Amino acid sequence: MKIFVLNSGSSSIKYKFFLYKDGKFKVIDSGVIEHIGEGKNYPKNHKEALELIDEDFNSFDIIAHRVVHGGSYFTEPTIINQDVIKKIEEVSYLAPLHNPANLEGIKALSRIDTTQIAFFDTAFHQTMPIESYRYAIGEEYSNIRRYGFHGISHQYLTKEASKLLNKSIDRCNLITLHLGNGASVTAIKNGKSIDTSMGFTPLEGLIMGSRCGNIDAGAIIYLAEQLKKSPKEIEHILNYESGLKAICGTNDMREIIKNYKNGDKKAQLAFKMFCNRVKKYIGAYIALIGKVDAIIFSGGIGENSKEVRDEVCSNMEHLGIRKDKNSPISIFTIKTNEELEMAKGSLEILKI
Ligand code: ADP
Repeated sequence: MKIFVLNSGSSSIKYKFFLYKDGKFKVIDSGVIEHIGEGKNYPKNHKEALELIDEDFNSFDIIAHRVVHGGSYFTEPTIINQDVIKKIEEVSYLAPLHNPANLEGIKALSRIDTTQIAFFDTAFHQTMPIESYRYAIGEEYSNIRRYGFHGISHQYLTKEASKLLNKSIDRCNLITLHLGNGASVTAIKNGKSIDTSMGFTPLEGLIMGSRCGNIDAGAIIYLAEQLKKSPKEIEHILNYESGLKAICGTNDMREIIKNYKNGDKKAQLAFKMFCNRVKKYIGAYIALIGKVDAIIFSGGIGENSKEVRDEVCSNMEHLGIRKDKNSPISIFTIKTNEELEMAKGSLEILKI
């Protein structure tokens, strides 16, 4: 069984080709094509970019596409047809930077006679109860609600944690931390997402590489009214000029740790602010979930930085978090693998 997993961005395509045989997945090929549409030396569009991949797409049994936003329509991976494409287009206004690019990848392969499946970053969080996804604003604005993102990763981490705990997924209570350049934390009760830190957009929640995370909505009004920033400028400030980068000049956690060890005060502050925000979510989610089995660290920072893991877990003994083997709440570091989750999910959907 040959499975091709595709992650189409606005100017890049990441791909991974899996062979599924004897119950095992093997990566045959993987790569990235960048600079799509950026001049005459580069592929003009996604269709041309895909032609650079030396594979016969007709030979795949399944093609899996990552789609950032499924709105309220999609609660699980879905076989792509014209109706599905229409719905993804319909919710594109919720993710204007991502969904159109994801659709480019889908459309570029639409002639291929292979089952194609869409995996949504929002789908895993569709189990959130209304008290988690509703904002406290009027019902006339009900499309402004929390959706959550990184769902493919949080789902993968949930499944892996259930194996480590030797407990069925529907009995697992977890806090999954996806800490990369983009970062989010999810409260998992009985295997399902009941709350997550990202919201209407991936801007809410944790402090990220260049995104501010939680901020008083009044500050946005101040930026617009008093500082005369346009919506486009505000979007840019909060998404690309904030977060760790704004506090200490870099969004690279390796550099931040190196600098703070050398006494750099701004790097110390960035590190402390980042870890404190994560801590606050852990405390809140323990309160929400009840008895938690495990906290999972993942993403480039979560997987690699012992300093961040130690700081986040420090002085949390009263909540059942200890750094030794007998910690009432287990602490796991798991390398996330969204492509593998999509490959596995494809087989589940097709009941293979
Ligand atoms: P993305 O969200 O772009 O996929 P990643 O999950 O790759 O991001 O995470 C990128 C982050 O991981 C960066 O801040 C990088 O500095 C951090 N990182 C990678 N390796 C290490 C390490 N050994 N120690 C600390 N941070 C690390």
